[in-house]
Amino acid sequence: RMLREKDKKREKDSTTLESAFEFPPEYAGYRKKLETTGEEGVGDLFYRSFEGVNTRHALIDGVKAINFCSYNYLDLSGDERVGAAAKAAIETDGTSVSASRLVSGERPVHAALESALARWIGVDAALAFVGGYGTNEDVIGHLMGAGDLILYDSLIHASVQQGARLSGATVIPFPHNNPQALESILQRRRAQARHALIVVEGVYSMDGDIPDLPALVEIKQRHQALLMVDEAHSMGVIGATGKGLSQYAGVPPRSVDLWMGTLSKTFASCGGYIAGSQDMVSYLRHTAPGFVFSVGLAPPLAAAALAALQILEEQPQRVAVLHARALLFHTLARTAGLDVGVASPESAIVPIMVGESEKAARLSRALLKKGVLALPIGFPAVPENKARLRFFLSSAHTEEDIRSAVKALAAESAA
Ligand code: PMP
Repeated sequence: RMLREKDKKREKDSTTLESAFEFPPEYAGYRKKLETTGEEGVGDLFYRSFEGVNTRHALIDGVKAINFCSYNYLDLSGDERVGAAAKAAIETDGTSVSASRLVSGERPVHAALESALARWIGVDAALAFVGGYGTNEDVIGHLMGAGDLILYDSLIHASVQQGARLSGATVIPFPHNNPQALESILQRRRAQARHALIVVEGVYSMDGDIPDLPALVEIKQRHQALLMVDEAHSMGVIGATGKGLSQYAGVPPRSVDLWMGTLSKTFASCGGYIAGSQDMVSYLRHTAPGFVFSVGLAPPLAAAALAALQILEEQPQRVAVLHARALLFHTLARTAGLDVGVASPESAIVPIMVGESEKAARLSRALLKKGVLALPIGFPAVPENKARLRFFLSSAHTEEDIRSAVKALAAESAA
């Protein structure tokens, strides 16, 4: 009888949840799609458990494949020096500082990382946050407010879109990589707004293309707007020594107000940063809620990012190797008649345009059988019929990896 009472209570609790929260209908559809492992579903491709470091090879269910979705651009995650720095930081400062840096969470490694980032990027100061996503969400949501105007590239990352929504500002996406369209929106809308913020990415993660920074700087100066660049996929990747978009475009780093980046890709850690003027960074340090009211970056993560940055500075050949691999992939893919869309040969992201989402999923499965791991991306992340397979290159790849991957890709695409 007691058991029955318990069951009844459980039933009541679940009824309470159902009546208190209605899952959106899209979620039900999404769940159904995920659970389908047949031709139409992609449930077998995502949320798979990988073994070991995310590097040149991926090991999934004991199967080894050349890994084109590591984001470990310079192969610094898994590097011995980076690991040793993280372990040493645990020994001295523990695994967590447990508190906001405002109170008892500040450690020397935070300042060391931030000053190294600022020096590397070529600006006054930098501030480290606990997540890349959270950095965009918090900083944009905090800097902008009602009466302000946010203009972002229509292909901007979800974290920027979320920050913009939360800010309460008027948000207008402008057509992808189209400075003229941005300019005409500013001509119409700038005068009514208090502040205007333009947000772009250094390399776009869906297409692997690069914005026209000189044009954006000129526009932002003319319209007295702030310019923010998300360097998640450009830091350590583009520019002769991997300094990102300013080096690539030959534009002084101080022309951009907010350089945003993540610590999770090139920097082999976890966290995000903002780099810019002393005034802007100081304002965020004292007022950004996601910084002030959140824990300081974990010591092993700060130390890992700092060690990764030091290696990047000492070993520019890693960047040169990445450039060579990216160019080789582009060249071979084009020669094989594959469609790389608008990707720039300097970026480490090569999309292979496939068309329908289902076809991209099929191609991904077929490649994995041949020992090549690349994941599809389809609707709604990209427009319907613009599904693609994305290849994220790394300095860990050998020339042979690239050649055999493109060969398998060409054979399977033709099949
Ligand atoms: N910005 C861009 C452009 C990204 O692609 C990502 C994540 N891939 C982020 C921000 C968020 O960074 P993180 O994963 O380190 O939170």
